[in-house]
Amino acid sequence: MAMKELLTKYTRMDKLPHIWCPGCGHGIILGSVIRAIDRQKLDPGKTSVISGIGCSGRAPGYMKFDTLHTTHGRALAFATGVKLARPELNVIVLTGDGDCAAIGGNHLIHAARRNIDLTTVVFNNYIYGMTSGQYSPLTPHMKLATTAPYGNIDQSFDLCNLVTAAGGTYVARGTVYHTQMLIGLIAEGIAHKGFSFIEVITHCPTYYGRRNRMGDAVDMMNWQKEHAVPVKAAAKLPPEKLEGKFVIGELHRSEGPEYTEEYQRIIDRLERE
Ligand code: SF4
Ligand code: MG
Repeated sequence: MAMKELLTKYTRMDKLPHIWCPGCGHGIILGSVIRAIDRQKLDPGKTSVISGIGCSGRAPGYMKFDTLHTTHGRALAFATGVKLARPELNVIVLTGDGDCAAIGGNHLIHAARRNIDLTTVVFNNYIYGMTSGQYSPLTPHMKLATTAPYGNIDQSFDLCNLVTAAGGTYVARGTVYHTQMLIGLIAEGIAHKGFSFIEVITHCPTYYGRRNRMGDAVDMMNWQKEHAVPVKAAAKLPPEKLEGKFVIGELHRSEGPEYTEEYQRIIDRLERE
């Protein structure tokens, strides 16, 4: 579908222009989510998009679906409620690294453990963008942030590994540089029954990039290109060659009982008894 048609069909044009800074990667993720929804031919009337707080949290506001902009870190809790009440809906969660990995971290591991049929897309720009650049649980070690002006002494962690270990059944990572791959990963996540999780490496030139002297938006996208290793290539490399890099592509896929189906089975059994 041509760009103009996509925009007219899936976005609230009256809400534009958006609030994101020039060069921000978030619009590329929004465009990729819309293309993935279009590729999977989801019925907009049966699709709900839910976010928490932060620059990522604004994305559903531009989307022509039933959307919820919820409280900080709680997008997955709201999404769990929506999916349990209306299991026939496609529920997509858009969240940020701060929103999802810090205050929302507990909701994340339990949504994964339950294998509830939600598609979660994390906008990982390694920083709390909206509140002016504080470090998040995904800010790499010794990178600079408003709250770490001499270097972040926390170790960051790998959210994809966390979700896989917690029980998520589709786990992938992409970047805003590798857009075609990203659309495919999100589309696969939507098609997968169970908890789908797609981490997207994006860029915040305003805070993370400026403070860490990473150049402008184009430089930051080139950084993504240079540091991303596709999963097949990574499998052939020794660990030392992957140091400082990150792996992109489908990282984990498995099958398991889906939460709302399990719940419905109990309702059916009790109704029969
Ligand atoms: Fe994007 Fe950063 Fe600006 Fe937020 S602060 S809109 S993440 S560039
Ligand atoms: Mg962030």
